[in-house]
Amino acid sequence: MDIKRLLRRNIRTLKAYAAKEIPCRVKLDANESPYGFPAFVSAVEKIQTNRYPDPEGKALKKAASKRWRVGIKNLLLGNGSDELIYYLITTFGGPVLYPTPTFSMYGIIARALGEKTVEVPLDREFDLDLDKMIEAIRNYRPKLIFLSSPNNPTGNCFSTDRMLKILDTSKGIVVIDEAYQAFASKRGMLPLLRDFERIAIMRTLSKIGFASLRVGFLIASEDIIEAVDRVRLPFNVNALSQSIAEEVFRNYADIDRSVQIICRERDRVFKELSSLPLLKVFPSEANFILFRIKNASSVHRKLLQKGVLVRDMTSLVRDALRVTIGTPEENDIFLEALKSIVV
Ligand code: PMP
Repeated sequence: MDIKRLLRRNIRTLKAYAAKEIPCRVKLDANESPYGFPAFVSAVEKIQTNRYPDPEGKALKKAASKRWRVGIKNLLLGNGSDELIYYLITTFGGPVLYPTPTFSMYGIIARALGEKTVEVPLDREFDLDLDKMIEAIRNYRPKLIFLSSPNNPTGNCFSTDRMLKILDTSKGIVVIDEAYQAFASKRGMLPLLRDFERIAIMRTLSKIGFASLRVGFLIASEDIIEAVDRVRLPFNVNALSQSIAEEVFRNYADIDRSVQIICRERDRVFKELSSLPLLKVFPSEANFILFRIKNASSVHRKLLQKGVLVRDMTSLVRDALRVTIGTPEENDIFLEALKSIVV
């Protein structure tokens, strides 16, 4: 039987998100934290393996609501923020507008759900091109706009003024994806929740040491949360993850320390990369750095031969590679390997 013929039309041309496990010595390709927290796992007690998890994640929401000073009813948990993107698009539908280059899942999920996507290129500084964004909002009236700030893969935050203009113009929901907020110098958009009823903010534990848990947060008005909750699968966040994630909020000082080390290392790696010839390095407010280099794909391969895995971004940004910040030792290995290739 030809399975392909049975596929829905929009799935026929869809490509799966590329998340391959490539064996390597130094893994700097997926924007994970180099620091894990195994002690938090052993702190998990009293898991009843035979019972379903708390369907609403009440205890975890309570911990998150304290930290971010938002109401419990302003929170929804997801199996990673990926799942929340899925739920948002399922709930509100398209058109779905986002600037490019950006996190690929906005487009992949919109297409999987058969919704129209509208892509607006960022400007030369990788900031929002306000005129083009406003024009696209007027022409397509998107139900959802996704703004990743700091943006993956470019690393910069979008200017607050421009995001505010978009919030003012859009009649649809504006989702600010703050997956990398922990590493940014600016405060993020949580304080705007009070002023804009159509803003939704996403946070995740994935970049600060807990990618394996798959825990993401949607923070928005009660109306938005109530609507998105209608499509949420029951028990979407498992008991182990809920329990460990609670532990994260109880021990946030440990996380903060690891984030500070990563930020210091990011600034060091930025300086070192900038001193190399023939590289264009983009400033970053995240836990990764994007850089342009001649023959990027070949450099990517040569780095891997030396055991260092970075992300080849050439399909999204011309000549670009993205390196996640690792431990100081891992970063040194990366820098040495790169120098031996380009110098
Ligand atoms: N948003 C952005 C901007 C990301 O880069 C990523 C991870 N690559 C995600 C969301 C997904 O994060 P999670 O692990 O919480 O699903």
